[in-house]
Amino acid sequence: MVINRIKFLKDEINKSNYKYYVEEDPYLSDFEYDKLFAELRELEEKHPLLKTADSPTQRVGSVSEKFFSHKHKYRLYSLDNTYNYEDLKSWYEKIQKEFKEPVELVCELKIDGLAIALTYDKGIFTLGVTRGDGVTGENITNNLKTIKAIPLKLFEEKSVEVRGEIYMPKTSFERLNEENLKNGEKVFANPRNAASGSLRQLDSKITAQRDLSMFTYTGIFENSADTPDNHYDGMMYLKKLGFKINPNIRLCKNADEAINFCKEWENKRFELDYATDGVVIKVNSFAQQQELGFTARAPKWATAFKFPPEEVTTKLLDVELNVGKTGAVTPVAILTPVQLGGSVVQRASLHNFDEIKRLDVRIGDSVLIKKAAEIIPKVIKVMETDEHDNLPVYTAPETCPCCGQKLETREQEVVLYCTNPDCPAINKEKINYWASKEAMDIDNIGPAVIEQLYNSGFIKTPVDLYKLTMEDFLSLEGVKEKSASNMYEAIQKSKNNPLKRFITALSIRNVGKETADILACEYGSLENLMAANVEELAEINGIGDKIAEEIFEYFHEEKNIEMLKNLEELGVKPALAPKAVSDIFKGATFVLTGTLQNMTRDEASEIIKSHGGKTSSSVSKNTTYVLAGANAGSKLDKAQNLEIPILTENEFLEMIK
Ligand SMILES: [Zn+2]
Repeated sequence: MVINRIKFLKDEINKSNYKYYVEEDPYLSDFEYDKLFAELRELEEKHPLLKTADSPTQRVGSVSEKFFSHKHKYRLYSLDNTYNYEDLKSWYEKIQKEFKEPVELVCELKIDGLAIALTYDKGIFTLGVTRGDGVTGENITNNLKTIKAIPLKLFEEKSVEVRGEIYMPKTSFERLNEENLKNGEKVFANPRNAASGSLRQLDSKITAQRDLSMFTYTGIFENSADTPDNHYDGMMYLKKLGFKINPNIRLCKNADEAINFCKEWENKRFELDYATDGVVIKVNSFAQQQELGFTARAPKWATAFKFPPEEVTTKLLDVELNVGKTGAVTPVAILTPVQLGGSVVQRASLHNFDEIKRLDVRIGDSVLIKKAAEIIPKVIKVMETDEHDNLPVYTAPETCPCCGQKLETREQEVVLYCTNPDCPAINKEKINYWASKEAMDIDNIGPAVIEQLYNSGFIKTPVDLYKLTMEDFLSLEGVKEKSASNMYEAIQKSKNNPLKRFITALSIRNVGKETADILACEYGSLENLMAANVEELAEINGIGDKIAEEIFEYFHEEKNIEMLKNLEELGVKPALAPKAVSDIFKGATFVLTGTLQNMTRDEASEIIKSHGGKTSSSVSKNTTYVLAGANAGSKLDKAQNLEIPILTENEFLEMIK
């Protein structure tokens, strides 16, 4: 029967969407999914009467002429805000006084997106409306249907209105902006604006192309018998019906537990791929909620604890020019100090001079800065002010701020470079990088000492580090016997560093830590790597033609050969890379988290590689194992949510025995 086959296909595809978008655990392969989808579309074309509103083929989009306003059946209230823990505590105490029995709270992340209300009629999605002013919103049903985290059909035939927050993942937001910038289209200021712009497209095919998702945060059931007793159970029930809920939800016994939840997320939030600006705290019991009731604009049983802002405006005092180890000159914004995301910020990234031009940033401007996962925040926008027009337009420098050499651009790059081989700024940066944690990891040799050594004429290149004597260190101002000996010993120790550290430290163009690691594993010794030809290099997985050429050129340039020879004569002999021990972890990807007892994380990842496995820094559905030590953080939560096997250190050691 065609009708049964269609039902089967719809159910399989809906189930697959749910597994993929809600549980993040794929159930069908892309190939199988596409095959079922094509069959369903074909059957529906042949039998148009059997095409229903809940069919997954209805997600593809259509064009509307305008959006119609729609009066909400149940009003969408705002939330009162709290900005500090004392207020949160007194909010709770006031509520607890009203009841004899204890008041439990539920904490959830407040997603920085767009609130919407979705209506399901006997399990079928029929209407989707924006929040609007809470009383009336806009009907954007067709656009919402394209979002795969929104079920078109529920697993039970319930009539319910749910509310959720539509958001765009940060990574998708950045990709969208990059593309828009390339095509000369509008660049969005933040993921919320991008989500909003994508939702309000009259052509829902455009919405369908944007990567939007939704977290559901409440549901109002038509039949009160369907309603659980409390908010937490309600959320679990919504998940069971097919809605995506945020995994970071916690039932708390009192205000202190809720405050702990807020504190945890104040910093952890930057690790998430979506923006959150606070924590929503609700009284758990629906009976208690009902007794507390509403004010004119907000429920008395809920509050939003707001994190310190991720974005803030401040004044641009100056643009500092930084010269990197490659000679690239980059602008850094110097700002009036301001609180941002829990710390005081006075410097921000401006990327490059094209970006300054694009934003039309001028010294003296009021600018919007944003903190993301990066350590240094960035300037994202110039505020419109009267002063702006009177400020002089910023012009990119023509000469190196350190040595005065004329700056150049390289083909197809917007970056300006100082090409002076004797530029002190570049030389110092090269030595800084050589000694840094990422490269040779030489303890006690930081930028301040390098500056001193350089200015005293002891060092000009990384090679000179290995010529330094105890006397040289002791001649520096403020350096005593003990610290001189520490520095000297640290340098000696670095002579036999692992090969991958040595290759990283060479700063070959486009060869970072990861590529250096690949090269070390592949060739085992510096001699072998130096003897490799371009074809051979290009064949290695993870190294393209361009990088292969750059590596080859590096090892065939006179001055580099000379430098490597000098290093060898000074006793710098990188340890050979370990050969593969076994392939028991072949195809497996590990994520390491927490503090291990018997080894460092670096050592653990060496072991994994020597057994044919890989490591990655973030947990995803592609992770095979999470190796967790003490005090593991959010990665562990994520692994648990995705049901990825978690290994203790002992279990791991057992596996490699
Ligand atoms: Zn220079």
